[in-house]
Amino acid sequence: MWICAGCRMMVTLQVALPEMDEEGVYFICPVCRRRNPLAALPRKDPDDPLELEQPPPVRR
Ligand SMILES: [Zn+2]
Repeated sequence: MWICAGCRMMVTLQVALPEMDEEGVYFICPVCRRRNPLAALPRKDPDDPLELEQPPPVRR
């Protein structure tokens, strides 16, 4: 479960599939369409499934 940094909506993997582009992994909030960055956890074995976490919000 992730929390959108824009509207604070709690988002599950069922409604927001993670996507990847040249800038990294992210999900799009289904409510406000904001792009929320995700970080892939380091894997011991490259064959392990990718685990994603939501990095703490950056204050600007
Ligand atoms: Zn949102």
